[in-house]
Amino acid sequence: MSIRLDPKHGVNPSVQVCFFCGEDAGVVLFGALHRETRRAFQEQGFSEDGEAPRSVVIPGGACTKCEELLQERVLFVEVESEEKTTRTGRCAWVRRTVVEDMITEPMASTILEGGMCYLDVNTWSQLFGAETATVPA
Ligand SMILES: [Zn+2]
Repeated sequence: MSIRLDPKHGVNPSVQVCFFCGEDAGVVLFGALHRETRRAFQEQGFSEDGEAPRSVVIPGGACTKCEELLQERVLFVEVESEEKTTRTGRCAWVRRTVVEDMITEPMASTILEGGMCYLDVNTWSQLFGAETATVPA
């Protein structure tokens, strides 16, 4: 694998943040940004001169701990609403067998394939209770 260096930013690194838990998951070396990547970063308010953002979240990109958990579990994440998917901070790792048993198709397959399910505050409360804090694996 080769990387085309950016004339100003060299290997142009970003810290990859785990899509699931939000912890650091490694380093991404962007080098010289492709035109579409550069435009996407600019649209999100990052540097105009081709510098990669300090951190990036790659959809579905997991740290080693979450990769291991995803073998047998999926992550349920509480978000403010269906329209505003800002995470509230509460989440729970749920066994894949529970999803298979409790949730009908095609929703179950969608959750199992993605490894994650967003629940709005009301749905979260119905499933896990309003007072439930983050449920560890
Ligand atoms: Zn993680």
